[in-house]
Amino acid sequence: SILHQSKFFVSAAKLNQLPPASVPEVCFVGRSNVGKSSAINVLTNQRRLAFSSKTPGRTRLINLFGIPNPQAPDHAMGFLVDLPGYGFASVAQNTREEWADVLGSYLRERQSLAGIVLLIDIRRGVTDLDRRLAEWIAPTGKPVLALLTKADKLPYGQRVRAVFAVTKELKNIGALKVIPFSSSERIGLEETSTHIINWISP
Ligand code: GDP
Repeated sequence: SILHQSKFFVSAAKLNQLPPASVPEVCFVGRSNVGKSSAINVLTNQRRLAFSSKTPGRTRLINLFGIPNPQAPDHAMGFLVDLPGYGFASVAQNTREEWADVLGSYLRERQSLAGIVLLIDIRRGVTDLDRRLAEWIAPTGKPVLALLTKADKLPYGQRVRAVFAVTKELKNIGALKVIPFSSSERIGLEETSTHIINWISP
């Protein structure tokens, strides 16, 4: 997969620190601990490209990974964008409002956003914060792939039920696809890669 060629490009604390919106990008959003960094690492086939929300540092930032253009390897044909995880109980109120600011404005304003990967823990389902995020996502009209993470922890029948439940909960999002996903068992990996690549080079 071309995604395996992804390389760390830049971190940004604010929107105005992002590179110009010149190539399509796909963002990853979800609660802290949902399995976002594991998903990015398995999709890119790299052990430590994205950092877990358990490790301090780059996780409060917007991290961009460039997918090189095969014709011009020094140039990115697209970006994977790792947005800050949200919902850690220990985080102070003002920090929570900060994520709201960063995520909300990124989703509203980023012209080059081609698709959104929304991660939801398959056992936890859609939480209040996920719902709030969905309210910002819906008006963008951007296509959303919802990954129900850690699907290996549920038997097949319950995975199917979770897909139905989340699809119903997020019905305010127009272009929505919901699939079970597991980084450890590689469930949904191919389908996710295909979506991302299609968004970046349609
Ligand atoms: P992040 O905070 O959203 O980046 O989440 P991480 O990727 O760091 O994962 C949080 C925790 O969930 C870690 O303990 C991971 O080992 C675990 N985890 C992540 N993906 C999976 C998965 O597909 N299956 C299972 N069983 N555990 C997972």
